[in-house]
Amino acid sequence: MDQPIEVPQSNPKAGYLAHQADIDSAIQRVLNSGWYLLGKEVELFEQEFATYIGVNHAIGVANGTDALELSLRACDVGSGDLVFTVSHTAVATVAAIELAGATPVLVDIDPASFTMDPQCLEDALAHPPAGTPKAIIPVHLYGHPADMSSILELANCHGLSVIEDCAQSHGAAIGSRRTGTWGDIAAFSFYPTKNLGALGDGGMVVTNRPLLAERVRLLQQYGWRERYISEIPGGNSRLDEIQAAILRVKLRNLDKENKQRQKLAQTYNALLRDLEMTLPETRSGVSHVYHQYVIRPPRRDALRNYLRQVGIGTLIHYPVPVHLQPAYQGRLTVAALPWTEQTTQQVLSLPIFPQLNTDQIQHIVECINFFYKDGMVKT
Ligand SMILES: *Cc1c(COP(=O)(O)O)cnc(C)c1O
Repeated sequence: MDQPIEVPQSNPKAGYLAHQADIDSAIQRVLNSGWYLLGKEVELFEQEFATYIGVNHAIGVANGTDALELSLRACDVGSGDLVFTVSHTAVATVAAIELAGATPVLVDIDPASFTMDPQCLEDALAHPPAGTPKAIIPVHLYGHPADMSSILELANCHGLSVIEDCAQSHGAAIGSRRTGTWGDIAAFSFYPTKNLGALGDGGMVVTNRPLLAERVRLLQQYGWRERYISEIPGGNSRLDEIQAAILRVKLRNLDKENKQRQKLAQTYNALLRDLEMTLPETRSGVSHVYHQYVIRPPRRDALRNYLRQVGIGTLIHYPVPVHLQPAYQGRLTVAALPWTEQTTQQVLSLPIFPQLNTDQIQHIVECINFFYKDGMVKT
């Protein structure tokens, strides 16, 4: 019998309890206001988030997948267009491309940073499949920024839009500029376990380009500029007032919580250093916000089972690359993806969330040490 999970892999409830009084009063404020959609809270959160990221425009939407789809549509990406991204990502990245009507083209990752390899992108752009190359979606996976300067250079050279997938990188930066400010437009998710998490669904599109911002605003609500008059065909993707009010509280604490994630990652690094496994690397000049702390341990699956038996939760991000999942297998255009396919066999995401403490990390590492010393007997 497994022990109950004592150290979960992530813990959105702890994220609520850490700010309970402020969140409860924010929710109460919205309930009492009598205004539940597209009101003052969303407007203020959009302003505060835009200021935090360092962009001119932010548009709240219903979730991160919508944020990607609306960003693509705003960039005029649709049927017959090619969008270059990675297969080592949340399926939402690829799903959003198809929801916009376009064709995903998947390229390999750089195994050190787990993000798009610019050389693989360059190769794919040199021999594109049928269709019109239109856009690139780099994913700042696990909180580590993709190599934006190389990707932007290729985008400029080929006249492509760049849509950053920032669903895992709230607050991460390259130099002094945060992710979300590098491309033409960027998509964020506020799914509860993200670094900036709502207590429900939420998403945001950010951009410095006023025309793109205007198009997202139209697409987001029935193509309305003026109420009841659809200027273009649109849909419904709104961030609600309660989630916006909660996210305003969370945003005020994001830098502090990201620093805590970095401190926890450094603790893991120091304690795991002498074991034979690959630890996460950070490219020089970037700020990694450790949405996940991802190791490549020997005998990964046995280690994972053992940790579960002793009450420690882990996850695999992601167990199957998108192009090999049933919905996509044999259907997508992919280059050779050796690193992607190898990575999914190797990675393990250890517990990390701001309310985790260094004692718990010590306990986790002791269990890992025990597994490798004694693991043959224990599993
Ligand atoms: C979470 C996530 C999304 C999708 O966000 P939702 O809010 O769940 O729709 C997209 N891309 C990546 C990389 C993600 O991690």
